[in-house]
Amino acid sequence: MPSCKDITEHSSDYLERNLPWWKRPGYWLHLAMCIHCRRYVDQLKLTIGTISKSPDATPPNISTEEIQAIVEKMKQSTKK
Ligand SMILES: [Zn+2]
Repeated sequence: MPSCKDITEHSSDYLERNLPWWKRPGYWLHLAMCIHCRRYVDQLKLTIGTISKSPDATPPNISTEEIQAIVEKMKQSTKK
C-alpha cells in the first residue's frame, strides 16, 4: 500500500496512466481511504484538465466492506 508521500509524488503518473498496472490497486485503495490524497489528486486532475475524462483516473466504486476485506488480507499476508 503506497504512503501519502508516494501518492502525491506519483499522482501525475497515475493520472496520465503511466503508472504500472500492479501499482494501481494500491492507489485506488489509498484514495478510497484517504480523503487528503483524494483531494490532492482531484485538484491535480482539475489542473491537468483533459486527462480527467479518462475513466481510469478515478478510483472504482468499491464498497467499504471490500476495502476492509482487502486490508485484512494484506494484514494477514504481512504476519506470515
Ligand atoms: Zn493519503
